[in-house]
Amino acid sequence: MRRKIFPGDKMGLKTEVLIVGGGATGVGIARDLSRRGIPLILIEKGDFAFGASGRNHGLLHSGARYAVTDPQAAKECIEENRILRKIAPHCIEETGGLFISLPEDGLDFRDRFLRACEKVEIPTHLISPEEALHLEPGLNPDLLSAIQVPDGAIDPFALILSNAREAEAHGATFLLHTEVLSILSERDKVKGVRVKDQLTGEEYSIETSFLINATGAWADHFLKPLGLRIGIALSKGSMMITNRRLSQRVINRCRPPSDGDIVVPNHTVSILGTTSVRVMEVENFEITPSEISLLIHETSRMIPSIEGCRFIRAYAGIRPLFMEEEKEEDRSISRGFVLMDHEKRDGLKNLITITGGKLITYRLMAEKASDLICEKMGVNIPCSTHLIPLPGADQPRGLKERLKNLPMGETLCDCELVKRDEVEALLKDKKLKELQDLLHRTRMAKGTCQGGFCVYRLLGVLNESEKEFGDSNRILKGFLEERWKGIQPILWGSAVKEEEVVEGIYKVIFNLKS
Ligand SMILES: Cc1cc2nc3c(=O)[nH]c(=O)nc-3n(C[C@H](O)[C@H](O)[C@H](O)COP(=O)(O)OP(=O)(O)OC[C@H]3O[C@@H](n4cnc5c(N)ncnc54)[C@H](O)[C@@H]3O)c2cc1C
Repeated sequence: MRRKIFPGDKMGLKTEVLIVGGGATGVGIARDLSRRGIPLILIEKGDFAFGASGRNHGLLHSGARYAVTDPQAAKECIEENRILRKIAPHCIEETGGLFISLPEDGLDFRDRFLRACEKVEIPTHLISPEEALHLEPGLNPDLLSAIQVPDGAIDPFALILSNAREAEAHGATFLLHTEVLSILSERDKVKGVRVKDQLTGEEYSIETSFLINATGAWADHFLKPLGLRIGIALSKGSMMITNRRLSQRVINRCRPPSDGDIVVPNHTVSILGTTSVRVMEVENFEITPSEISLLIHETSRMIPSIEGCRFIRAYAGIRPLFMEEEKEEDRSISRGFVLMDHEKRDGLKNLITITGGKLITYRLMAEKASDLICEKMGVNIPCSTHLIPLPGADQPRGLKERLKNLPMGETLCDCELVKRDEVEALLKDKKLKELQDLLHRTRMAKGTCQGGFCVYRLLGVLNESEKEFGDSNRILKGFLEERWKGIQPILWGSAVKEEEVVEGIYKVIFNLKS
């Protein structure tokens, strides 16, 4: 029987399935299993999308990027691309994409690329340089050719929140800001987990019949207390955000996957990506000046105006790349996903791990993981997540439609058109504990001003609300410290002067010490 859990009601918690990880994969599994009627709890140490799911390009892959080097991953991408357009249209901007060849790339790779796309049924359309420049006037005029593919842009936060909403409606429970500290096991079975509420410090145990490790890049670290290891390499990818949108379409370089070969439009800005640097830790990594100059240098070959662009932030995510054997070059490791049944692998009957893959293959990953759990449970209910649109799928899309349907009332965020009423409604959600939780759910502070105006208005609303978020100056300091991590790597030239002015404003108006 299902049981709702309320804060403070954590003694003797028990569940059928416990999912660890509130990224796209974990939340996707929660949606899938709850639709099949299986009681579950999901534990996430931060907010939803705290890991790679909140730190990527937001590219709705057509799969073309992998067609030559990893056809299996390419096939999964194009199939899920088609499904997501149907079930999550409100999270997608159908931008289309171009793969462009520059003089230094030649045309040999382009021809292999076209053949490889055809094999995995990714539609392509070869166009002339003139046509490409007509569609995207900002492109390098020296380009040799361009290929149209069905790439797009996807909003990971909206996608994950829609999945979570549906899972909750089917009885799933989410415990956010809660970290799994250890796994409790007995002989050949996992019994449960010991967890800690990150905000109150409270520790307690949860018993479970099945445990799903959906911790992404943390998957290996998570299993360590059980003495288990899985071979994953951690690959850091850094990205930069420009202060305006540079193209209507996703612009890719038509060459073997390498650094700085993609520019993804995202609402009012563009995201430049990415690098691939092997790291040893999932957290506490930095974006280096050499990555920044590499990104600017390489992407400006595709869109020359990038050289003179103003950047508003840099950020990075960690890819868990599964390796059966050590490889020297991370880009040669598959971007596909891995599903491990620890019963077969390690003799632990009720534990599975799912990691790797892409944001846009999250649903397929969730389907495979849920099928395996159902098989173990003897449940014979098929997956339906590819058939049913997510909540919000009927929402107005695109700026024009949104403006037409924009409710009246006070606007808090001009970049992302967030109204005070929306924020006040969200404040009723018990899961919201921190400023960042609100920013994730509304997209506030993600636009070109990066919270320069809206965060102060938001603090005013928080101050007036009954919800206890704490001292406004402390919250503002926390926000600025978080923002600084993204600004510091790009502080060059005129950006330094601008940041000094901003710092002066904070010190004088808000009396904040640095
Ligand atoms: C640089 C970069 C760019 C990318 N670009 C794209 C793209 O454009 N398109 C695309 O489709 N894919 C992209 N990807 C891949 C995509 O982001 C990931 O495949 C996907 O987000 C993984 O989701 P996940 O849920 O498996 O892992 P994650 O999102 O990392 O989620 C794992 C979660 O587990 C939680 N966790 C870990 N340990 C614990 C614990 N002990 N207790 C509680 N919680 C815990 C973490 O906090 C985290 O939230 C990119 C990846 C990177 C790194």
